[in-house]
Amino acid sequence: QVKSAGGGGYRPYVSVRDAQIARRLVLERELRGALDRDELRVVFQPIIRLSDGQVDGVEALLRWDSHRLGSVPPADFIPVAEETGLIAPIGDWVLRTACRAVAAYEGLRVNVNLSPRQLADPALPGVVAEALQVTGLTPDRLALELTETALLRADEATTDALVALEELGVELVLDDFGTGYSSLAMLKEHPVHALKIDRMFVAGLGADAGDRAIVEAVIGMAHGMARPVTAEGVEHEGHLAILKDLGCDYAQGYLLGRPGPLTDAVGEPPA
Ligand code: C2E
Ligand code: MG
Ligand code: MG
Ligand code: MG
Repeated sequence: QVKSAGGGGYRPYVSVRDAQIARRLVLERELRGALDRDELRVVFQPIIRLSDGQVDGVEALLRWDSHRLGSVPPADFIPVAEETGLIAPIGDWVLRTACRAVAAYEGLRVNVNLSPRQLADPALPGVVAEALQVTGLTPDRLALELTETALLRADEATTDALVALEELGVELVLDDFGTGYSSLAMLKEHPVHALKIDRMFVAGLGADAGDRAIVEAVIGMAHGMARPVTAEGVEHEGHLAILKDLGCDYAQGYLLGRPGPLTDAVGEPPA
């Protein structure tokens, strides 16, 4: 207890830690009903092919507009969904929603993020196969973005899932490359087809010689293994010029298009 200013009374002292726990419980409680209350939506950010500047595909990103809490960022609620297991129904819904939206366009490709727990779930390959079947999207038009953390688990369930997904014919992309316990050996050990350089390295392009060296090395090694590279977080023309210079294949970022309705990225679907 701390003595309150100016009065003789006492009020309960709420620690930062207690406040975090309380927030976490509220998030969990609200997230449980979010799907049923229709509070979730998927936005899309264009992925640009640097050789010709055209949209190659889009990344699906989840948004939560909570009636009670307002807009909650994925960085806050995805971990809660992970820990509670809510990621299974939510992830399933994202997959279907993203595949359905993109299937309306001819040949358009979509990237969907998967969390470690989804990848370790033996039901995942079936869930992906069903999403493709129900929406009519062909497997070559779906890419699943995995993180190094998910691959690090490297338990039998995860390895089996990767093999099954590869057999389905979907592309596997290593996301946020360089931020985790990263090792290029992961590209060798797992059936990963492409990688995305995290925006923390892109941010320093043009200013930080170290970041340029890292980006250059990652592109060089990925290309040596015949894997295409996407740069995340491209915000300035200067970033773009250097990435083109370094032979980066694709780019994504606020400069090229913010996450939003699919029509913002690719216009109306053909009738
Ligand atoms: P991520 O997969 O690395 O997604 C890229 C993040 O960078 C997105 O944040 C995007 O809005 C943001 N971004 C894109 N361009 C720029 C830029 O130029 N500058 C800056 N500063 N940021 C940019 P968002 O949407 O808040 O998502 C954060 C993370 O949450 C994602 O990182 C992903 O790991 C996770 N996430 C989002 N949607 C899903 C989902 O449906 N399922 C799962 N499992 N995770 C998701
Ligand atoms: Mg991603
Ligand atoms: Mg990423
Ligand atoms: Mg990232």
